[in-house]
Amino acid sequence: MIPREFEYYAPTSVDDALALLGTYGSEAKLLAGGHSLLPMMKLRFADPAHLIDLNRIDSLRGIRLSGNEIRIGAMTCENDLLWSPVLKEHCPLLVEAAGLISDPQVRYRGTLGGDISHGDPGNDHPAIMLCLGASFVLKSKTGERVVPADGFFLGVYATALEPDEILTEIRIPVPATGTGWCYAKLKRKTGDFATAAAAVLIRMSGNTVTDASITLTNLGPIALKAHDAEQFLRGRTLDDEAVDEVARKAMAICEPVEDLRGSVEYKIAMAGEMTRRALRTAAARVRH
Ligand SMILES: Cc1cc2nc3c(=O)[nH]c(=O)nc-3n(C[C@H](O)[C@H](O)[C@H](O)COP(=O)(O)OP(=O)(O)OC[C@H]3O[C@@H](n4cnc5c(N)ncnc54)[C@H](O)[C@@H]3O)c2cc1C
Repeated sequence: MIPREFEYYAPTSVDDALALLGTYGSEAKLLAGGHSLLPMMKLRFADPAHLIDLNRIDSLRGIRLSGNEIRIGAMTCENDLLWSPVLKEHCPLLVEAAGLISDPQVRYRGTLGGDISHGDPGNDHPAIMLCLGASFVLKSKTGERVVPADGFFLGVYATALEPDEILTEIRIPVPATGTGWCYAKLKRKTGDFATAAAAVLIRMSGNTVTDASITLTNLGPIALKAHDAEQFLRGRTLDDEAVDEVARKAMAICEPVEDLRGSVEYKIAMAGEMTRRALRTAAARVRH
């Protein structure tokens, strides 16, 4: 299908983009990598009269360490996450997840900010951001606010972003030294979204878990945080019984919908399996 006619703008600064957004409001859409927006425009699920392309705004790209935080420009593409020395050293979970997103074509164009802003429960970054305790810098003409990932995702394609706001930066607290990590993702083939996936960050003292963060992709209307499973793990020895109980607790919060990737029962079973794998791998990666 062909999108409706639209006016195209290519501002070179955030202020110019915000001015355009302020003028056109909900009649406008921001264009990042276009890998989610353009298919929606072609299907006419999105029909903006004004398209504001963020690709010429250099200040929206880059990955840097700022104190105990990693700061990533919203227009940083997946491929840059994959090869970042800062992320390899301080946030390997994000590197692992970026490598599991689709294929090189999508990873060269698709951006971290676009993946988050789209609010698609099938996207991988929402669960990764929840797992990492990230927060998002949202700018408008009238100022800026910093919103935690926990609470930003409101429903299918719905986020806390207002029509006059741009997500400019993603802030991630650097995980403590020695933290184990894993993103376990089941997909039918390269280029497909997750059937089920689980992200885990874990800290341990010997074989005892001191802290854990567990989140799930594509198993509900938004990325899910397995609070009960995390709580259960704290202070517990990580044996087979504990791993199974964590998987059960993760499965209990899943509300997937049946589609070509499988039935509700299958997806919930795979949520358990991805949780088990992510937990075991993350524990094996803990450095004492
Ligand atoms: C074949 C295929 C397979 C894919 N598989 C996966 C996968 O396995 N996992 C995964 O996570 N993703 C997957 N994707 C989605 C891909 O990662 C997209 O790139 C991503 O969802 C959107 O990022 P984008 O930069 O392309 O944003 P766009 O498509 O340009 O924008 C998406 C939405 O976000 C808004 N937006 C963009 N940037 C901002 C901003 N800075 N501030 C406010 N709003 C903004 C846009 O207005 C639009 O509404 C796949 C895509 C394709 C085509």
